[in-house]
Amino acid sequence: MKTALVAGGAGFIGSHLCEYLLKKNYKVFAIDCLVTGARKNIQHLIDNPNFSWIEHDITAPLFMNVSCDEIYNLASPASPVDFEKMPVYILKTGALGQMHLLELAKQNKARILLASTSEVYGDPLVHPQVETYLGNVNTLGIRGCYDEAKRFAEALSIGYKRMHGLQIRIARIFNTYGTRMRPEDGRVIPNFFTQALAKKPLTIYGDGKQTRSLCYVDDLVEGIYKLMQSSIDSPINLGNPQEITVLDIAKAVANTCGWKDYKTTFLPLPENDPKQRQPDITKAKKELGWEPKVSLEEGFKKAFDYFKAQ
Ligand code: UDP
Repeated sequence: MKTALVAGGAGFIGSHLCEYLLKKNYKVFAIDCLVTGARKNIQHLIDNPNFSWIEHDITAPLFMNVSCDEIYNLASPASPVDFEKMPVYILKTGALGQMHLLELAKQNKARILLASTSEVYGDPLVHPQVETYLGNVNTLGIRGCYDEAKRFAEALSIGYKRMHGLQIRIARIFNTYGTRMRPEDGRVIPNFFTQALAKKPLTIYGDGKQTRSLCYVDDLVEGIYKLMQSSIDSPINLGNPQEITVLDIAKAVANTCGWKDYKTTFLPLPENDPKQRQPDITKAKKELGWEPKVSLEEGFKKAFDYFKAQ
């Protein structure tokens, strides 16, 4: 039986990953400081004898006397709303948090996977984004704290690989949605579903012609797991390549909620909001044999049920 440690285990993606690993017969230790994670995300796992969780903030060193085979770092606030509220904390989580986990991986001779982000590409000038693209990040902009935290975490991981021969994995995660997203998280999917369910105008930032590519969380978790099991120790994009404008996301969400004559309201575009984003997943397909399976229609139905219940 393998043991995995999931930092950010009570978060949106982290809690799904804990569930997935338990199904694969792992012993799972979740770590979370509950800044953006929530106990309710792991409540259903508490009675599982193979699951334990520790309330701990990875910006502080970890002293654990359990040995583990795999460490997954999913711990970080990741919404643009968080970027405004806690930039210094986000930088510490990306830098110190990853450093503490790398140290733990070194002690345990464990593999460690970093949840990096498409944000390392900034407002990309190359489309779709390939892993070899070096990015266009404004270090001083509102998103700089998250982008640079993850860029630093990638560089630190590579440093540990070079200096200590650590087995590292880097997933560059593109926009992901699904159950357990915080309704008040501020991102486009929670906002639009919450608004549409309340029949309130959907808030379109800018002209709504900017694009994103939305991956359902179950697909992403499978990609993360496959990456951990692979021998790929260079960054790899994980996301759904189906690109869609924000205007079309609004239309699709309203349609899913059965709101035919939906209303929109236009608000200013936030600073450095990427104009287009689409992952090139050629590498993931070839090296991991992975690609998303859940269609937008199917994923939106699941999201609808979830947000309705909230
Ligand atoms: N967005 C929007 N209305 C909202 C929330 C977001 O138009 O209520 C836009 C946002 O400006 C961005 C896109 O939707 O262009 C995706 O935003 P999100 O915060 O979900 O993710 P990110 O910008 O980090 O990709």
